[in-house]
Amino acid sequence: MNFQPNECGYWGEFGGRFVPETLMSPLEELTKSYFAVRDDANFQAEFQQLLRNFSGRPTPLFHAKRLSETLGGAQIYLKREDLNHTGSHKINNAIGQILLARKMGKKRIIAETGAGQHGVATATVCALFGLECVVYMGAEDVRRQALNVFRMKLLGAEVREVDAGAKTLKDAINEALRDWVTNVKTTYYLLGSALGPHPYPLMVRDFQSVIGRETREQILERTGDLPDCLVACVGGGSNAIGLFHSFLQDEKVRMIGVEAGGKSDNLGEHAARFNKAGGGKIGVLQGTKSFLLQDEHGQIALTHSISAGLDYASVGPEHAFLQSIGRVEYASANDEEALQAFQTLSHTEGIIPALESAHGIAHVLKIAPEMSPNQTIIVNLSGRGDKDVQQVAEIL
Ligand SMILES: *Cc1c(COP(=O)(O)O)cnc(C)c1O
Repeated sequence: MNFQPNECGYWGEFGGRFVPETLMSPLEELTKSYFAVRDDANFQAEFQQLLRNFSGRPTPLFHAKRLSETLGGAQIYLKREDLNHTGSHKINNAIGQILLARKMGKKRIIAETGAGQHGVATATVCALFGLECVVYMGAEDVRRQALNVFRMKLLGAEVREVDAGAKTLKDAINEALRDWVTNVKTTYYLLGSALGPHPYPLMVRDFQSVIGRETREQILERTGDLPDCLVACVGGGSNAIGLFHSFLQDEKVRMIGVEAGGKSDNLGEHAARFNKAGGGKIGVLQGTKSFLLQDEHGQIALTHSISAGLDYASVGPEHAFLQSIGRVEYASANDEEALQAFQTLSHTEGIIPALESAHGIAHVLKIAPEMSPNQTIIVNLSGRGDKDVQQVAEIL
């Protein structure tokens, strides 16, 4: 199995392109342009050059010795995506897509953002290339992530606060899509996760899969063997698929995606799309067919998570597929467990993780003690916690 979607962007029954008629030809144009640069050595060289010299790649693979010893089980390694420029993996995709936007001759860039990390990454690459940048962000997220809002403005972006619905990521994506429909000739929509209509889930995965390619090389060099287990948090799913992609063919590598368990399993109080008891069902949202949180009438449910970056009702279609064939397992960590893991990693390793990444760490705290010291777990530390310290201070 090669884990590529078919020509229409489907992995099994998941994915596709569910958009208004006016967006069909722009998405077709985007797909053509993307496939052209995918095989273009000059484009790929420029992408690699910026990953290295602008973002600081390759990011280290760090052996968390004290955490491993404390838990008394598997050896835990952290893939340090938090050390990227702007503080998370989001910049990998932003660099790739801004190069594509330039190639397509687009002068105006729009983006949505939840936690603000993708907005910051987009504003950053727009500043780098002198392009106009508009970022849509839910009003609730604007409140939770004030520091990132200021950063985007400092970088020269216009932040448009979205007051509709739950005022979080879903509502921001709706507004961004509306803007794109209206301004499609001049505007490039720089989508931030492995979500949305084809070709976004594929394109974002490809740009993020640098994470797994590096990790594979690094762990083989360190231990001479593949890891036993990979763990990553799953919002839309880009950091997780970026880590997993290079290992999908290796059957012995177990993979676990960790969703936001929120406050409880009740619909509306979490963002665990694969939790069937919690309201996760197959459906279509924002251009793609996947697992979504919905009520018995098919209305999209409200979601909750302590971390803005995981607070979304749908999940990338490739994850829905990987779950359906049993290649990747999905678990969840709740708000309290994430908060605990946030503190544990800070104490034991001197690394303050993003609250999103803390969900992955929380799951590692559960499974590592049951494994043996000659086994290895790699967890994707998708971002740093600077943006979250004020929120956590208020909670504690
Ligand atoms: C945005 C974000 C996430 C969630 O998005 P994915 O597309 O699922 O990776 C996770 N961690 C951090 C630090 C983020 O900024």
